[in-house]
Amino acid sequence: MKQQRRSVLIVGGGIGGLTAAVALCRRGHAVEVVEQQPGWPAVGWGLSLTGPALRALDSIGLAQQCMDAGYPMRGIRNCDTAGNVLHEIEPPSLLGPGRPVIVGLGRPALSRVLRTAAESAGALLSTDAELVDLTFRADDVRAVLGDGTERIVDLVVGADGVGSRTRSLIGIDGKPSFLGQYVWRTMVERPDWATCTHTFNAPRHASGLTPISPEHAYIFSTQNVAQVSHLSGEALLAEFREVLAPLEGWMAGARDAVDDPDAIVRRPVLGLLVDGPWHRDRAILIGDAVHTCAPHMISGAALAIEDAVLLAEHLDGPGPLEEALSSFGRRRLPRAKIVVEASSTMSGLEREHRYAEEHVVQEAAFAALAKDA
Ligand SMILES: Cc1cc2nc3c(=O)[nH]c(=O)nc-3n(C[C@H](O)[C@H](O)[C@H](O)COP(=O)(O)OP(=O)(O)OC[C@H]3O[C@@H](n4cnc5c(N)ncnc54)[C@H](O)[C@@H]3O)c2cc1C
Repeated sequence: MKQQRRSVLIVGGGIGGLTAAVALCRRGHAVEVVEQQPGWPAVGWGLSLTGPALRALDSIGLAQQCMDAGYPMRGIRNCDTAGNVLHEIEPPSLLGPGRPVIVGLGRPALSRVLRTAAESAGALLSTDAELVDLTFRADDVRAVLGDGTERIVDLVVGADGVGSRTRSLIGIDGKPSFLGQYVWRTMVERPDWATCTHTFNAPRHASGLTPISPEHAYIFSTQNVAQVSHLSGEALLAEFREVLAPLEGWMAGARDAVDDPDAIVRRPVLGLLVDGPWHRDRAILIGDAVHTCAPHMISGAALAIEDAVLLAEHLDGPGPLEEALSSFGRRRLPRAKIVVEASSTMSGLEREHRYAEEHVVQEAAFAALAKDA
C-alpha cells in the first residue's frame, strides 16, 4: 500500500522536536518546526547521550556526528569527595563492540547537528514562532502562532517541553511535580583525568563532572531542598559554592574558580508522566511534554529522541492516523515509565544519601533500556 505523506507542524525546536523533523522529513513528510525562542535554545551547557539515544540517532544516521561533536565515553565512575573510585558503571554497548557507550555533548553542538540534518532533509525551521491556539477541523488542524499567522496541517506534534502549551490546548492533563532537588551546572576546562563521567558523592549533595569535548566538561550537582526558590547574582554563586563545598582536590579548585553567576544554570527537578493517551484527534505529544524526569538516569533526551524516531516509523503504517498515534503511545508509555520511575527512585535515594542503592537502581534501568525501544 502506498504510504501517506503528511504535512506536520512540530511545536518546539528542542531535542525531541528537531529529531522528529529529521526522522519525518527522511520519510517524505512535509515538516515545519516552530520554536518560540528568538534563537535556538540550548540551555544547560551539556548533557549525556546514553546508549538508547545513540542507537536511535544511529538509525537516522546522526550518532557518529554527535560523537564527533562531543566526547565518547565508556561509563560512569562513582567516587568519594576526594576522587577515590568506589564503584564503576559500564552500561551495555548498544552501538556494537568497541563503540562508545555514552557521549557527553554540549547542548549547542547537539542542536547544531540536529538543525543541520533537519534543514538538509527539507524541514522549514522558524524561531520567534510561538504556538498560541489549535482547532481541530474535519480533515485537518489549524494552528495559530503568536504573530497571528496560521498553519493548516494534517498533524501537530507537541514537542514543547514540560510546560507544554500544546498539551493544555488539546486538553491532556499533566502537572509536573517538584521532586525536592535543584540541579546545577557550569562549564569548565576538561582536566586530563576526566575521560568519563565522574560522580562525587558527598554527605549532603551529589556532584560530578562530565566531559563534553576534548577541551570542555561541565560540573553538575543535585542539591536537596525543601521548596522552590529564586536565586540570582552573588546569592546564586554563593549557594553553588556551598553545594560544592565538600569536594576536594581538582574539583575544589574548579569550585573556587567559578566566579560568574551568569555561567551557572540552576533548575528545579521535576517529574511528570502522562499515563493515558498522548494524542487527541490530530495532535500528539512527545518528549518532556508527556514524560519529564529527574536527570539522575541521564535519559530524558534519550526518551525524546526515541519518541521522535518511532513516531515517524508509526506514521508509515498502512492504517488510519488515529491507529498510528494510539499504537505509538501504547508502545512508548511502558518505556517512559522505566525512566521516570527509576529517576524518581534515584532522586529519593540520593536525598537520603543511599548512593550505593542508587547505583543499583541505575544499572538495572540501563539494562532494561538496552532492550529494543
Ligand atoms: C539540568 C538538566 C540536565 C539534564 N541532563 C540530561 C542528560 O544528561 N541526558 C539526558 O538524556 N537528558 C537530560 N536532561 C533532560 C533533557 O534535557 C530533556 O528530557 C530534553 O531536553 C527534552 O526534550 P524536549 O524536546 O521534549 O523538550 P525541550 O528540550 O524542553 O524543548 C521544548 C522546546 O519547545 C519550545 N516551546 C515551548 N512552548 C512553545 C510554544 N508554545 N510554541 C513554540 N515553541 C515552544 C521551548 O522553547 C523549547 O525549546 C536534563 C534536563 C535538565 C533540566
